[in-house]
Amino acid sequence: MRLFFIVFLISSLNLSAQDKLILDTLSLETDSIVIYHDKSWEYLSMLNFNGILNVELDSFIKNEFKNKIIQPWDNYEPYVISNDLSIIKDSIWLCNVDENHPNYHLPSPGKTNSRFGPRGGRYHRGIDLGFNNSDSIFCAFDGVVRYAKYNSGGYGNLVIIRHYNGLETFYAHLKKIKISKNQKIKAGDYIGKGGSTGKVSGPHLHFEIRFYGNAIDPELVFDFKNNCLVSDNLFIHKNTFSYAKKYGGVYSSKAKYHKIKSGDTLYGLALKYGTSLNKICKLNKIKPSKILRLGEKIRIQ
Ligand SMILES: [Zn+2]
Repeated sequence: MRLFFIVFLISSLNLSAQDKLILDTLSLETDSIVIYHDKSWEYLSMLNFNGILNVELDSFIKNEFKNKIIQPWDNYEPYVISNDLSIIKDSIWLCNVDENHPNYHLPSPGKTNSRFGPRGGRYHRGIDLGFNNSDSIFCAFDGVVRYAKYNSGGYGNLVIIRHYNGLETFYAHLKKIKISKNQKIKAGDYIGKGGSTGKVSGPHLHFEIRFYGNAIDPELVFDFKNNCLVSDNLFIHKNTFSYAKKYGGVYSSKAKYHKIKSGDTLYGLALKYGTSLNKICKLNKIKPSKILRLGEKIRIQ
């Protein structure tokens, strides 16, 4: 009994030594200075960073979607609402890991509570992982932290990491975030403690994998039972996002879109749907003077 206690104590000491705790973060335009608990600090220079970590993939997407699908480096919004990959034609083979970034790590060792798919009339765009012996959350692949703050849309404390493989991973409902936006991060690095912040019924990790803002079933990438990758490669094709036709590609089913027809104006849409011009502009991150294209999808709710 006593021996067990000593072993336990040592392992918990090791854990806290591994976590480099952040004391404070100072934001300077696109850069930030992170001050760690041990009084060391790091200057994170992201000046002119365009968010492209996979040049080859990015130029393919630009060509394929004629610049309609975009992926800006945004520290304040989880995704681009107008991105809709259900129109994808060509298939894409992604390398989850390669010789430059060979490592991966499962975000949480907990068991699966709820899977990707339809749930109560909406679409659950991630997987819910419970906490067994530990609520420590880890980074899935090498990358850069794009978003690390509280999200009022239901995610609670949310971390989004963009990876060199072209994917983004979302870690939601965290109790505490122990990393900072614009920080370079490696697979297996400690992100923070899992929790129950945001819209939840109990503590769990809501984990999403997104490709240019569109959610992919995390079980296509990770085998959560056996703690490994399903494959080194991920095959993305038009059926990967087939749910988007019914539920929308990026946002929850509560989001409502309007397809622009001849004669539509933003003010007209606001009147038609009983909302305001200001709200539509904010939702779509557009100016009231924006020229609308026929067939373009404008989010109205
Ligand atoms: Zn969830």
